[in-house]
Formats: sequence, structure tokens, C-alpha cells
Amino acid sequence: MSNALSPAQRLTQLINTISEYNYQYYVADNPTVPDAEYDRLMRELLEIETAHPDLRSPDSPSQKVGGATLSAFEQIEHEVPMLSLDNAFDEGDMVAFEKRIKDRLNITDEISFSCEPKLDGLAVSILYENGKLVRAATRGDGRVGENITSNVRTIANVPLSLRGDTYPSRLEVRGEVIMTRSGFIKLNEAQISKGKKPFVNPRNAAAGSLRQLDPRITAARPLLFYSYSLGLVENEKQPLDITHSARLKQLSEWGLPLSKELETAQGASECLTYFHKVGELRSQLSYDIDGVVFKVDNIEMQQALGFVARAPRWAIAHKFPAQE
Ligand code: NAD
Repeated sequence: MSNALSPAQRLTQLINTISEYNYQYYVADNPTVPDAEYDRLMRELLEIETAHPDLRSPDSPSQKVGGATLSAFEQIEHEVPMLSLDNAFDEGDMVAFEKRIKDRLNITDEISFSCEPKLDGLAVSILYENGKLVRAATRGDGRVGENITSNVRTIANVPLSLRGDTYPSRLEVRGEVIMTRSGFIKLNEAQISKGKKPFVNPRNAAAGSLRQLDPRITAARPLLFYSYSLGLVENEKQPLDITHSARLKQLSEWGLPLSKELETAQGASECLTYFHKVGELRSQLSYDIDGVVFKVDNIEMQQALGFVARAPRWAIAHKFPAQE
């Protein structure tokens, strides 16, 4: 079908289709196609844009993060943008990822990576001032998110106050809000018994539960939060560690929850071992993951690498094959 179209025509078609899917998924919390189908179209779009860079437009979904925000919520501008992640789909992509980093940094030593499960929920930013939770926001389009402070305050494992007294006076913690599989099954049973539409999957249930105007609804939903990075940091009382993995440990000492499957690895080959190990664990975990994430562990290297339109150069999501 698409063979009859010129690359420019096919690209326009893909942009329109993907933009509509994005709206349904990110804004309406109502995904209309399986992720595998979405990922397939997105890959086709990227292939056309790579082969024809002149056709790439700033409106392309490849240049954007997430979706627009709902006007029912107050808008919050992220002081540090919340980006997405590039994807690796096979071992070759992972090896190429490490090579790009080494070439760019002009080093030959193996790179140290933080290895993390890719939790399948939605990204949230939580700001602590003087150790108190003062604000929480969705990622939105990466630049502007929705103020969901009252809702996030109801999540059982989100601390309202940090522990100890060594935290920076302003600390933004980023992580994923998820719903456990058992919580999702119970919630859907309750939805069906009330004659309401069940949720498609735990991610969709978590997103729908968090983006509620009435925080009492969120409070009744089985949500959990796991931290995976720091955003804004101001007025450190003690210098933060130079590695991302040590910074995560520090977050846990301040009382923030971390997922259990965190490790570090040297080079792409150890990353692949982690990918297979977590892949085997996947069905036994209490929550859905759709891959693993590898991040250059050294923060100075991260800063030297920087980011492109929608994703950092120093991280990649290695996706598992789709489970629909
Ligand atoms: P993404 O989910 O591929 O990757 C970025 C996100 O990963 C981050 O924003 C964060 O929320 C999450 N994440 C989980 N664990 C993390 C960790 N340890 N460290 C850092 N981030 C972590 O990117 P995206 O832009 O949110 O979404 C794209 C994906 O969403 C697609 O690949 C597709 O699977 C799905 N999608 C599906 C539809 C659909 O209609 N089915 C539409 C849009 C998007």
C-alpha cells in the first residue's frame, strides 16, 4: 500500500497517524493501538527521516516528547526539561550505542552503565523544598506538565518529608508512577462490577488514576512510585556523588523508593547480560516493565554527551519484545 507513496507522502501519513495515537495515549489516557504497532510506525518514520533528513520537520513526533497537557490542571513549567529515551531493539543497537558514546567522548575504556528496569507507568516529577514535598507534575510535553501535587501526595510510598538533614534545599526527584498487576486486576473487577469501562493495562490504569481532578479517587487507587533520577538540585549541603547510581542510593537514604532490580555494568556486553536476566525475571515481578534502561553512570560524561531533540545521548531503553 505504502509502496505507491513517495517518502514525503508516507511521512505525512505517518505523522498524522502517530500524532493521533499520541493524543489518545498521552492526553486522553485511551490507547487505541497496541504499543508494538505504535513502535513499528515510529521506526518506519525514523527510517524515512534518516534516509531523507531534509523531510524532517519540527512537527514530527520524532522531535517531540509525550503529549499536550489537559487545561483542567494548572500548568507547571519544568525548570529542567523532562525528556524521553531512545530505543534499542537488539544487541546491535546496544553495541552501536556504546560505540557512539566512546567516539563522542574520544575514549577507549569500557563505559560504566547504571542498569534499571524500564517501569511501564508514567513519568512524574516531585519537588522537595527544605525536605518537604511542595509540588508534583506530569511530564506533559517535556517542557510543561500538569500540577498533580494533591494526587501524588496520596501515593502510599511517596514521602511527604525527606529523612535526615543532608538533602539539598531544593531537590526534584523524577520517577515512574505504576500500578501493580494485582492492584490492576482488583481495580478492573471493581470497575466492571460498577458497570464502568475496564482499563486496558496497568499503565493506562495508573495514568487514568493519577490524572484525576479529585484526589480522593487517586487515593483509592493502588499506585506506587519508584525514583529513577534527579532533576533540579539547588543548595547542596554536601556534594552529590559523581555517579548516577550512587545518587539513586542517596535518594533511598532520604526515604525515596527505588526499584529492587538496579545494578551497574561495564560495557555493552554486561548490559546485555542484565537485559537477559531481567527479561527472565519479568513475569515474576509485581509490576509491568517494557524493557530495561542503560544510563552512562558518570554524571560528567552525561553532561559532556548532552541530548538531542527528545532524548539524552547518554541513555537508551532496550525494549523487550511486546507482550500485548
Ligand atoms: P518511553 O516510554 O519509550 O521512554 C521514556 C520514559 O520511560 C520516561 O519518560 C519514563 O517515564 C520511563 N521510564 C521508566 N523507567 C525508567 C528509568 N529507569 N529511567 C528513565 N526513564 C524511565 O517513551 P515515551 O515517549 O514515554 O513513550 C513512547 C512509548 O510509549 C512507545 O514506544 C510506545 O510503547 C508507547 N506509546 C504507545 C502509544 C499507543 O497508542 N499504543 C502511543 C504513544 C506511545
